[in-house]
Amino acid sequence: MASRDHGPDGRGAPGPDTQHRTAEHSTAPEAVRRRPEDPPVRNPGQYSLTDHVRERLAQGGRYVTLDGIDAAIREGQLRWNTTDGWRFAGVEDGVRFVVVVCDTETASPVVVTAWTEIDDIGAAEASERWDRTDIETIRLRSTLSERSDEHVPEHIRPRDVPRPFYVRGHHLVTDPGDGHLRCVDCHGRFRSKGELDRARCSR
Ligand SMILES: [Zn+2]
Repeated sequence: MASRDHGPDGRGAPGPDTQHRTAEHSTAPEAVRRRPEDPPVRNPGQYSLTDHVRERLAQGGRYVTLDGIDAAIREGQLRWNTTDGWRFAGVEDGVRFVVVVCDTETASPVVVTAWTEIDDIGAAEASERWDRTDIETIRLRSTLSERSDEHVPEHIRPRDVPRPFYVRGHHLVTDPGDGHLRCVDCHGRFRSKGELDRARCSR
């Protein structure tokens, strides 16, 4: 039985054997000690970004920025989740930037994905940083993600998003009172993220 004396508090299993093997073969002394459940480093410059994250930085209506990612890594709350691993969450002007990271036990950790969600609607509305459409977009995006397989017309109807935001290849808007999202490119109508997944945008 391998020694576990370098575990933080004995919680949970140390992980698959492959992780030990990787650590032992690493040349970085830091990496030899680190394990997946050890808190990740708070140096944003050490993290690389997946292509997925880079794409998100350029997509309208996501509000994911490099500054937001860096700030969350530097000073955001840190949570360990047994399925997703580590995530940082930093709040700015009522909006939470969530940053999921992996390979944190190695010398080259990675930002896997990042998104925004409303933390405090009052603070977001009071801030000059977010206009009404920004806030509506963030709320709508959260609803779609949380209930990706459900039709959610009752959650779409109150939302007013005149400026297109990007989901699965479509550029979406919605008017107050409409129980669907409308793609300005293909003119498709959607009531769930599942529908967006299945319909290719044919602009
Ligand atoms: Zn479309």
